[in-house]
Amino acid sequence: MRELPRERWLTYKQLLNLRNQETNLKSYEEIKKLEPSLTWLNYWQIKESYKVNKKEGFETKDTCWDRILKADKKIIKLLYQQLLMWDTEEVQVKEVMVKWVKEVGHSINLAEWEKIWKRNLKFTYSIELRENWYKIFYRWYITPERLAKFSKGKGDGKCWKCGKHNGDFMHMWWGCKRIKKYWQEIQKEMEKILQIKFDLKPEYFLLGITNFHMDLNTEKLFTYMVTAARICLAKLWKTKETPSVEKWTVRLIDIKNIDLLTQKVSQNVSTRQWTDWDKLRQYLKKDKIELL
Ligand SMILES: [Zn+2]
Repeated sequence: MRELPRERWLTYKQLLNLRNQETNLKSYEEIKKLEPSLTWLNYWQIKESYKVNKKEGFETKDTCWDRILKADKKIIKLLYQQLLMWDTEEVQVKEVMVKWVKEVGHSINLAEWEKIWKRNLKFTYSIELRENWYKIFYRWYITPERLAKFSKGKGDGKCWKCGKHNGDFMHMWWGCKRIKKYWQEIQKEMEKILQIKFDLKPEYFLLGITNFHMDLNTEKLFTYMVTAARICLAKLWKTKETPSVEKWTVRLIDIKNIDLLTQKVSQNVSTRQWTDWDKLRQYLKKDKIELL
């Protein structure tokens, strides 16, 4: 969760607007200009500690802010506790979590959310992968349903793929027959590569929440594979098409190349932690594709 490196944390001076002796926290957009990698979650964290500080008076601002930064508890835990207390004002994160829970059909506990946040941010250091993760979690993809609501009269809100059903978020990512077929194909290939069996569940492919055992390397490959599959789908978002398995494979090879390159240039990663892509190599060999 703590994606901003410590040395880049903004100071209160940067975060506040001073007008007529009154201090106010800058808006998300204003702060985002200062720190482009800021997420909504970061902003809420800042906002909450600001609220506390304001109540307590600003003499204590540094200590309180510091306390939150140094807190051993994982940030998402703090946020989650906060989220449960909030009413309707800042419900976005809570709302998306609730929506996800509704759609996967069972509760997702805090430990699971924490695990996928960590997993997704740890493995997806490339901007494109990370962007896809954020967008899917926050449900930022514009759906036919939303588009029809915004632009009255334009579009009937029907799914771009099948043209029949109402194009809401879950239909566009999972429920549509044509999309489902794509996920089935991806699942089949993933099972072949990873040599494990797993069910076709939206939380596995969309959120990366899994409840079956994988070793760390398999977990990494799994994350890359489902992310690659989502990116392929997002690339054809407003079209009738669904991606082919070949497109997905090419994307996966891309990710592998970037992954290996990043590891090679990174001083911090010891060779023991490098991703082992051998399973993908073996799988592609059968199709006479030789990997570097
Ligand atoms: Zn459809």
